Amino acid sequence: MTLSLGADLVSPVPAAAVRTRVTVPLRFPDGYATTAEVLTFDGLADGREHLLLGLGDWRGALARSAAGGEAPLVRPHSECLTGDVFGSERCDCGPQLREAAERITAAGGFLLYLRQEGRGIGLYAKLDAYALQDAGLDTYQANLALGHGEDERDYTPAAQMLQVVGADRVRLLSNNPDKAAGLELLGVEVTEQVPTGVHLSAANARYLAVKRDHTAHTLDLSLAG
Ligand SMILES: [Zn+2]
Repeated sequence: MTLSLGADLVSPVPAAAVRTRVTVPLRFPDGYATTAEVLTFDGLADGREHLLLGLGDWRGALARSAAGGEAPLVRPHSECLTGDVFGSERCDCGPQLREAAERITAAGGFLLYLRQEGRGIGLYAKLDAYALQDAGLDTYQANLALGHGEDERDYTPAAQMLQVVGADRVRLLSNNPDKAAGLELLGVEVTEQVPTGVHLSAANARYLAVKRDHTAHTLDLSLAG
């Protein structure tokens, strides 16, 4: 793929390269189906196996962006085994992933599937944190009690993957202002932050309220049904 105009500028992230490019038809449990062009990479900063999924007319979206039009829609989604795969209602990751697939397919863009389980602390530690939450701590306090940071995610691999496909400007599908700030620091221009829907359940209401209050996530829980 030809890189966009910014390729000859000094890059704040190390260059990565496409390793494999494969087409994967997707079908979600509710029947929604789309097709992803899945890219794997060599040279990602943390050595983990992150994925980029090109959805919808992402080539057209890149061309429109390069011509000064709307930037491609991009969601950096942090892996959540319990939510993404098993449908855990302790968080809203599964519904957010499903929503992102459809909205990105419609607009043209990329889903970045980041192997950052539990805000970067790992799967077992996340489950340890759940146990502490059941004892009364909130999700951030629990991470700290386990000796981890509140949020250990590093968006360098996300910025590297975007750079490889030439997405130097993005519309960010996320309620998390930290993701936008993190990507901007790494040289990705966030032209707009597009909020996701609110996926409220009895089991995740407290989790979402803490996310909203603690990190200024854009979540209006009063509108959720
Ligand atoms: Zn989750």
